[in-house]
Amino acid sequence: MSQVVQGLRPNAARAANRAWNSASLQALRRQLRGELLKPTLPWHQATASVLAKLRNPFWIQDQVGGLQSTGWLRGWSASASRWAIAATCAEDLAAGVNFARENNLRLVVKGAGHDYLGRNCAPDSLLLWTHRMRQVTVHEAFLPEGAPTGTKAEAAITVQAGTRWLEVYEQATRAGRYVQGGGCTSVGACGGFILGSGFGSFSKRFGSGAANLLQAKVITADGVIRTVNAHRHPDLFFALRGGGPCSFAVLSEITLLSHPIPQRLTVITGGVQANTDSGYRELMEAFIRFCPNNLDNPAWGEKVGFGPDNKLSFTLTVLDLEDSDVRSTFEAFLQPFRSRPKDFDVQPAYTDLPFEQLWNASYWDELDPSMINRDPRPGTPANRFWWASNQAEVGAFWNSYDSLWVPAAAMRDQPTAVAETFFEASRHAPFAIHLNKGLSGEHPEAKARDQQTSLHPACFDAIGLVVAASKQQYRYVGLKGHEPDLQQGAAEAAAIAAVMKKLRELLPDSGTYSPQTNYFQSDAAQAQWGSQYPKLLAIKRRWDPNNLFRVHNGVGNIKPAEPKPVS
Ligand SMILES: Cc1cc2nc3c(=O)[nH]c(=O)nc-3n(C[C@H](O)[C@H](O)[C@H](O)COP(=O)(O)OP(=O)(O)OC[C@H]3O[C@@H](n4cnc5c(N)ncnc54)[C@H](O)[C@@H]3O)c2cc1C
Repeated sequence: MSQVVQGLRPNAARAANRAWNSASLQALRRQLRGELLKPTLPWHQATASVLAKLRNPFWIQDQVGGLQSTGWLRGWSASASRWAIAATCAEDLAAGVNFARENNLRLVVKGAGHDYLGRNCAPDSLLLWTHRMRQVTVHEAFLPEGAPTGTKAEAAITVQAGTRWLEVYEQATRAGRYVQGGGCTSVGACGGFILGSGFGSFSKRFGSGAANLLQAKVITADGVIRTVNAHRHPDLFFALRGGGPCSFAVLSEITLLSHPIPQRLTVITGGVQANTDSGYRELMEAFIRFCPNNLDNPAWGEKVGFGPDNKLSFTLTVLDLEDSDVRSTFEAFLQPFRSRPKDFDVQPAYTDLPFEQLWNASYWDELDPSMINRDPRPGTPANRFWWASNQAEVGAFWNSYDSLWVPAAAMRDQPTAVAETFFEASRHAPFAIHLNKGLSGEHPEAKARDQQTSLHPACFDAIGLVVAASKQQYRYVGLKGHEPDLQQGAAEAAAIAAVMKKLRELLPDSGTYSPQTNYFQSDAAQAQWGSQYPKLLAIKRRWDPNNLFRVHNGVGNIKPAEPKPVS
């Protein structure tokens, strides 16, 4: 066979092709408790019924070849692996790691399948699919293995590699606890989120996901199942806490610190519409002056958006503050605009809820059913839902995506310049600042944990992360009638590039958040990890000297990506 396997040297490709013969596969199958499956992309048989199911993120996750994102303009397109191990235990994952290493195969790992950068798929690869590993165990008192005598046990939750955040939140809530994960219910709790740092609405209070990692059971490139924590293999532990997905080891399960469940949550939604450009400039500057003094603290999270329509829109969360305090704080920002109804239309909506109801679909059915979408399939757990706001990312073909941390000092010291830059950037395309993805106002306890991770140091000085993105939904490369529109994609990508160029002119040294970065990011090592990169690279070389675990622009695999020609 002369076929060259993508990403492998020709002799490696020959070896890989030998591995795919039936005797080798039979031998692999015998080692597994799980199944060996032949994946296909779920839309390869695109009946109307399949196209409808492709709008359900939980249905997509049940397909071995399923992916939430379908590609990136001139970057990557979804592809099915040659074979997949539907793993049920760490031993299955170890068998897959050994098989890939011994046969020089391209190895990919997929859990919840939410990666934007296509790092969960590759043609002609062996896929380790962790979806069936979803056990969750609550601990009242957890001690990491090897912890010195006298170490205080802490409440914690252990989750297997395929678990989604919804499943963790449900169990944690039942136990009166909270674990810091992501907002999207279907994102994986033990995959790209934790490995990439992971920020949720309450990260200014509890820290990044990575900061809350106490212990991991992993399979290293030599196929050994190891327990990794601050006392066992601390270098690898450091790398797992933010050093990026699938670059150092495969996670089989992780244990996360849990916190007493917060009492109350206020969600503020809505926006302020300015009727003129000059009014919008004024509004932006007022927000930028207001933000560092009022929103950069452990209580506040989520995001504020800007755009060519001259609207400042907000979805903000506030933890454990009295309703009256929340309103008086935020109304101080809104009031001057409320008093000028000819120039501004001010529309905030305040929703107060007991925190323990946050992940309860029945509660939202009563309060505001438009907030959630339920998994309608018979036999699925009654509480399985996703936020209506996350629907927009299901089946996304990305024209572009980029992010940039905004230093709190820039907002404090040069509010007029930041406002003017935001205004000019907003002329090109919408963008949002995610306040919970910058840690300058982080709670000191959480900060102490975050400082042990491999997060980009820029994150600690940042008030938030600007995210700008553009996509085409339910578009599938190669599926006639459902192909992305490449010309429209290119135009929208250029608009996002213009937004980010403006911001980077003002903030040239700011880093980017690696799970939400540009596929074509230049200087990707420095941009994603800053001064942490040399240490991460040394750890990568120690634990994976032959580079078995490689993902696009991951540690040890930084390569400038040339945009593929548009055909
Ligand atoms: C709708 C949506 C909402 C999001 N919201 C947030 C948010 O609120 N905050 C935030 O920080 N991020 C958010 N993200 C980004 C998300 O955290 C990343 O895309 C993350 O990489 C997804 O991880 P996953 O495990 O769900 O997906 P997957 O695609 O399964 O995995 C992502 C990466 O992790 C690797 N990986 C998966 N499992 C393992 C494993 N067991 N061992 C080793 N490597 C593994 C994969 O190889 C891949 O490279 C969101 C993404 C989406 C699509």
